[in-house]
Amino acid sequence: MRERHTYQPTEAEIAWAAGLYEGEGTAIYLKSGRSQWMAIRMTDKEPIERMCRLFGGNFKDAFINPGEVGKGYKPKFMWRVSAWRDIIRVTEAIYPWLSPRRQRQIDAVLVHKPAHPRGELACPPEPIPSVLGMQRHRKNGVPPCDTCRRSWNLYYAERRKRLGKEEIARRNRAQYLKRKALLAKQEGMSSEITN
Ligand SMILES: [Zn+2]
Repeated sequence: MRERHTYQPTEAEIAWAAGLYEGEGTAIYLKSGRSQWMAIRMTDKEPIERMCRLFGGNFKDAFINPGEVGKGYKPKFMWRVSAWRDIIRVTEAIYPWLSPRRQRQIDAVLVHKPAHPRGELACPPEPIPSVLGMQRHRKNGVPPCDTCRRSWNLYYAERRKRLGKEEIARRNRAQYLKRKALLAKQEGMSSEITN
């Protein structure tokens, strides 16, 4: 499980990253594999490490592409993000600083963004004890995803632990009685109308 990247780069760091991306970056969408990524590849290690610190993502140690072997290329380091939520997060930061050419490359990837990419709108990247995700799914008419279902289960598992079986039974009973009373009241009202 990879931790969610939480560091918030400063404006200066974002501008620096945009400059690096402008020079060495790529944004790719592969239709065949339905995969996508943004990457920066270069022979200097330090900027790649810095990129990882600022924006998270994967660090790939020095390597040579198969197509470059024996052609005198130096090994390159690579920073890469491939989850939609990461691509969106990085893009939102650096996009305004990029040249139109780079922006168009990113646009061409972003058109393939699914309507509900995980983590972009609502769904947490990992399950957390909460019922909010499931409620959002219900509200938007989107079938619950695995993460939100597990979040729901986590919430109720914690609640069971916190309150104890008896307290939960007591609350459920109270809620049941309340609903019953409400139903009875509604029925009484409608019978008054029809009679
Ligand atoms: Zn979800």
